[in-house]
Amino acid sequence: MPPERRLTRRTEAVWAGEDRPFQEGATQVPVVHSVSFGYQDLERWRAVAVGEASGHIYGRNTNPTVQVFEEKLRVLERAEAATSFATGMAAISDTLFTLCRPGDRVVSIRDTYGGTSRVLSDHLPRFDVTTVLCDTDDHEAIEAELADGARLLYLESPTNPTCKVLDLERLAGKAKEVGALVVVDNTFATPINQHPLELGADLVVHSATKYLGGHADALGGALAGNAELVEQVFHFREVDGAALHPEAAYLLLRGMKTLALRVERQNHNALTIARHLREHPAVLAVNYPGLEEHPNHAVAARQMPGGFGGVLSFELRGGFPAVERVLPKLRLAHLAANLGAVETVVAPPRTGSHVELSHEERAALGIPEALVRYSCGIEDVGDLIADLDAALAAEPEAGG
Ligand SMILES: *Cc1c(COP(=O)(O)O)cnc(C)c1O
Repeated sequence: MPPERRLTRRTEAVWAGEDRPFQEGATQVPVVHSVSFGYQDLERWRAVAVGEASGHIYGRNTNPTVQVFEEKLRVLERAEAATSFATGMAAISDTLFTLCRPGDRVVSIRDTYGGTSRVLSDHLPRFDVTTVLCDTDDHEAIEAELADGARLLYLESPTNPTCKVLDLERLAGKAKEVGALVVVDNTFATPINQHPLELGADLVVHSATKYLGGHADALGGALAGNAELVEQVFHFREVDGAALHPEAAYLLLRGMKTLALRVERQNHNALTIARHLREHPAVLAVNYPGLEEHPNHAVAARQMPGGFGGVLSFELRGGFPAVERVLPKLRLAHLAANLGAVETVVAPPRTGSHVELSHEERAALGIPEALVRYSCGIEDVGDLIADLDAALAAEPEAGG
């Protein structure tokens, strides 16, 4: 007998969680709006309520549509278990607040997503959790902090908006040595490009709002990984109430069917545009892990087998005034605070993701005032390049 062939993620994105019959033979996942689920048989009600039998009781806890979303993500991340949340930030906050206790120490990086950074800097410390935010480029510093002991190592790679890349396997290995849990935000990479659980992470978090949904029309979050840990966080989410709405779960599921198609195109678009802008006279620098000159290109090439992602950033030679001139000229881009959508979305960190930081704080993160984050959509890359070239045409060139 030939060994059983495991489906690829391209196929799982379409079928996982949907390979069983739904009501009345529906081929598409029904959106179950019902808040509660009734039982004539009180013994069965009890059994479902205590988890001895499968089923649903109340929508804040579980819901059939939401459960399909969780199962699809679980399979894509090759995880033991997965659960879902109203938003990515709910997934991240609930994970950190469930797993940390007073006196614990969390090691992380300075370049986490803005909301995550707030939780680490402002909220966990209120509960006597110490958080240490290392320079994202400095693997030795992260390892040295881990050596002093930690409950949890929280990582994100590639980062927003400078596309820094961390060696997840190396850092997870060090965390294991000191008994720290490893949590990785896999939003930017998606399960098509990067598999943190295979690199030693215990848990993966997602803002499903971005690539998983892919259409910028539904908020959602997810957590996948070690079953015991996922269950603990799920029980906290049951009572803090940050449940994913079934309508949002349906939109996310519909989006996820094309996840592989979209991400493969976005990887291609981003690499092509990064190579083009690198040669553009109005552009001072391009950040993209797929470029050979990226400081961690070798690590990215190893740990992102699917591709380098759909987000790049670039710095305009003409400073922030150039950003103000150029971005409104783009015809094929929303200027908005989102990423990972089928449409190209562009934002300057100075007025978008990092607006609350001072000039000095942005500089310390390596975010120049003239940086532009460019999240590629699925459009034709020739059209996107023509759009960028037209918007950049009147800009000052080197020495000009
Ligand atoms: C958007 C984002 C989040 C937060 O997700 P929401 O769904 O907006 O709450 C977390 N991490 C990363 C990397 C993100 O891009």
